[in-house]
Amino acid sequence: MSEFRLTGGCQCGAVRYALLEEPSGPHICHCRMCQKAFGSFFAPLTGVSREKFELTRGELSIFKSSDLVERGFCRNCGTPLSFRFVDSDRIAVSIGSLDEPEKIEPQHQYGNEARFSWFDKLPGLAGLETTSETDAPARTTAIASSNHQHPDHDTAAWLPKGK
Ligand SMILES: [Zn+2]
Ligand SMILES: [Zn+2]
Repeated sequence: MSEFRLTGGCQCGAVRYALLEEPSGPHICHCRMCQKAFGSFFAPLTGVSREKFELTRGELSIFKSSDLVERGFCRNCGTPLSFRFVDSDRIAVSIGSLDEPEKIEPQHQYGNEARFSWFDKLPGLAGLETTSETDAPARTTAIASSNHQHPDHDTAAWLPKGK
């Protein structure tokens, strides 16, 4: 039996990690702290036991959003990476930072008291592909050819770019 392994990391590639067991409890959290920490409408998180979380490159920078919670991020590029109650033996990672995030489908939502009133309307918004959003194919090509984002797989060596 091959060992379970899901990999992920930050946008710049300075921090990479692996989950060594199937993550559980995938969810989104609408609480105001998660909104702020992710700069978004909610935080998408899924967890493993701490001993099954392995940093494979770099280190997490930590912001304690309260005495009870440590939020890990990349100090180089700012990607939110982890969430942990300091007294817990589990750690959650941001689903979007996984190399194959679509594999992890949220099963519930927390922090509903802070959920935005228009949240349910999001799937109904008019949808455009990235190329039509920028309305500039040349810019899209330039972004792709000067991409500083780490690829969605482990790399043997990597020098973070973009600074
Ligand atoms: Zn980074
Ligand atoms: Zn939250």
